[in-house]
Order: sequence, then structure tokens, then C-alpha cells
Amino acid sequence: MEILKYTDEHHEFRKRLRTFMETEVIPNIDQWETDHIVPKEAWRKMGRAGFLCTWASKEYGGQGLDFLYSVISTEEMAKTNHTGLAAMLHSDIIVPYINSFGSEAQKKKYLPGCISGDIITAVAMTEPDAGSDLAGMRSTAEMDGDEIIINGAKTFISNGINADLAIVAAKNPLEENPYQALSLYLVEDGTPGFTRGRHLDKMGFHSQDTAELFFSNCRIPKENILGQPGMGFIMLMQKLQQERLMCAIGAQAAAELMLKWTIDYCKTHHDAAGKPFSKSQATQFALVEMMTEIKVGRAFIDKLICEHAAGENVVVETSMAKYWTTDLAKNLARRCLDLFGDFGLTEDCPLARGFRDVRVMSIFAGTNEVMKGIAAKFMGL
Ligand SMILES: Cc1cc2nc3c(=O)[nH]c(=O)nc-3n(C[C@H](O)[C@H](O)[C@H](O)COP(=O)(O)OP(=O)(O)OC[C@H]3O[C@@H](n4cnc5c(N)ncnc54)[C@H](O)[C@@H]3O)c2cc1C
Repeated sequence: MEILKYTDEHHEFRKRLRTFMETEVIPNIDQWETDHIVPKEAWRKMGRAGFLCTWASKEYGGQGLDFLYSVISTEEMAKTNHTGLAAMLHSDIIVPYINSFGSEAQKKKYLPGCISGDIITAVAMTEPDAGSDLAGMRSTAEMDGDEIIINGAKTFISNGINADLAIVAAKNPLEENPYQALSLYLVEDGTPGFTRGRHLDKMGFHSQDTAELFFSNCRIPKENILGQPGMGFIMLMQKLQQERLMCAIGAQAAAELMLKWTIDYCKTHHDAAGKPFSKSQATQFALVEMMTEIKVGRAFIDKLICEHAAGENVVVETSMAKYWTTDLAKNLARRCLDLFGDFGLTEDCPLARGFRDVRVMSIFAGTNEVMKGIAAKFMGL
């Protein structure tokens, strides 16, 4: 029994998106991995084809589609086995902040470009000394007449090089309570005082431009405050459920893909006695164990997708799912690599990239330890 009720329109969308991936994305991935960035043109093609921010309302140039379209987009992107064209981050994590908390003028100004791919977004929270503990953030934002002056440094920012628009978290230095000091600001590329630092060279996520951002007396108009001043933490909290669920959906889809490659490999490659690897009991048990975990994860994720789409509060369960599925993907990648043997270590084997890329998933979007801490708190432990 299928938990998610996909319609013919959903299936048609998935087919179109897969064709887009096969023609516009997959042939370019090796180059993007080498370049450590995706050209902006690829974002524009994706937007023009109707595959960015599919939920956005028609009045801003969107399609007003339901959450299952976001799920399909995330899954199909995961199946390309690369992370550079970070459409899920843009469409389903960052731009929703503008949609939910932005003024009408901000929505009119930015949403059409976010949908068409002309505006690539980033969200800048992490700092050199503030990762999990956002209260330790040091970046400041001070009012000066009709302007706000931002100073500070951000690091590990996805789309950091490509971003045309960054949502930047910074504190009011006059407010002592760190939770009430935080606000979110919209900072456009090209604003004086906003510069890029290093383009970070990571062990995985090679095609994604992860970068340092610097703000030095960066002046933005006060109209660029996103939502109410001092409500930064509350806004971030409100969006965590979807952020964690999207990560879990991506991790689950990546794990499913890696297991599929491994089963295919074990069926078509032979041991010294000429038998396919898949006929050895040790390999069978390993594959069965992994498939069982995949099915458990799929049932959990699909149930959460239904609950989230219905507007239920499942923030604890999505935190559990984020840690569980990203751990699943990480452990599965390790076990699959062992079954591939030496070939798994070569760049000719897709698992090499998959192995590297899933490793980071337990660290970003809230570390898995932090996810467990949230669940423990809500369990009253
Ligand atoms: C590829 C990549 C892309 C990223 N993209 C972005 C982005 O676009 N925007 C952005 O703002 N940030 C981004 N980040 C940063 C990411 O959000 C942080 O890495 C994450 O918040 C964790 O912070 P940290 O790495 O500084 O670890 P720390 O917070 O320093 O944690 C170090 C260790 O301590 C543990 N720990 C910390 N606090 C607790 C606690 N309360 N309970 C239990 N254990 C704890 C952690 O689990 C971890 O094991 C990205 C990171 C990566 C790697």
C-alpha cells in the first residue's frame, strides 16, 4: 500500500523533471564537480522550465503546486548523485522565509526572480565561532537612520559564491537577551561592504559553492529587514520542520539510490568461483539488512510527508527523521562501498561521490546530536 497519494499530474511532473535532469544536469555534473560550482545559467534553465519554487503563488509567477511537487523535486535531484545545483535548499528552505515573513514589497521584488532562477539565494547563519549554538553569533546589525549597518563574518554558506540574495542573521548589540536580539536581513549581491571570502574546498559536496561571507559596514535600507525585528529565532524555529524533513527526504532518496547500484553490481559481478556476488549468503544478508532499513525509513518519511503537508506539528519526528535517515545513508554508503570492493573507491563508480556527499548530511541543517537533543527535550528526558 502506497502512503503518498501521487496523482497523474505528479507522475507527469516527475517524468518531465527526470528528462530535464537527463538532458540539462547529468551530462554536466562531472564538470561542475571539477569546477566546484554550478554555472548560474543552469539555475536559470531550471527556473525557466518550472522546476524552482513550485509551491509559489501564481501572482508572483509561480505555479501554486502542493508539497508533493517539492518532494518529487528533492528526490529527483538526489537521484542525479550530485549536490551543486542546490534547488531544494533554495526552493524549499530559503525562499519560503521570504514568502512567509516578507512584506508585500519584498515578495514582489524577490519572488519572481527566485522562481525564474534569476535570483539564487543563500541563508547565512553559521559563523566561525557559532554553528549549533546560534546564540553565540557575533554578527551585528545596528540601525542608523533609515539604514542598517551589518558587520560580521559567516562561514560554510551554501550557494555562497553564486548567491544574488542572502538572508543574513545578525544581532542587535543593544539587546542583551540573545534570543530577542536576532533578526534576519535581506542582503543583495553587490551591496557595498558585502564580500566573499574563501570558496571552501570540502571532502564532499564538490559541485556546491560553499563559502565565507564578510560584512564590513555593509549598509542596507531598513526595508530589507525580513519579518519583525527581534523575531529571528522564532522565524528560524518555525521553518525547522520543513528544513529537516527536506534533508531527510534527500538522505532517504540517496540511500535508496546507493542500494540500487549495489544490488545491480552484486548481481552482475562474479567471485573467483564464477558465481555472482549476490549468490553469497554474506552478501545476501547485508543487502537484505540494508533493504529492510530502507523500507523502514521510507514508511517513516512518507508518513511525515503526509503529516507535514496536512499542517501538523511534527517537529520532533522530523528531527528524529533527519538524524535517522542521514545516519542510514552514511552507514549504508560505507557498507555498500565494502561490497563494491576496489571499484567503489574509483571515480568511475558513482558510489565514491555518493559516499562523500552523504557524509556531510549528519552535520548540516542541525547536527544529528542536536536533533537527538531536541527529541530528548520533547520526550521530557
Ligand atoms: C556543506 C555544508 C553546507 C552548509 N551550509 C550552510 C548554510 O547554507 N548556511 C549556514 O548558516 N550554515 C551552513 N552550514 C553550517 C552548518 O549549519 C553547521 O556546520 C552546523 O550548524 C553545525 O555547526 P558546527 O559545524 O560549527 O559544529 P559545532 O556546533 O561546533 O559542533 C561540533 C560538535 O559538537 C556537537 N554539539 C554541538 N552542540 C551540541 C549540543 N547542544 N548537544 C550535543 N552535541 C552538540 C555537534 O553535534 C558536533 O558533533 C553548512 C555546513 C556544511 C558542512
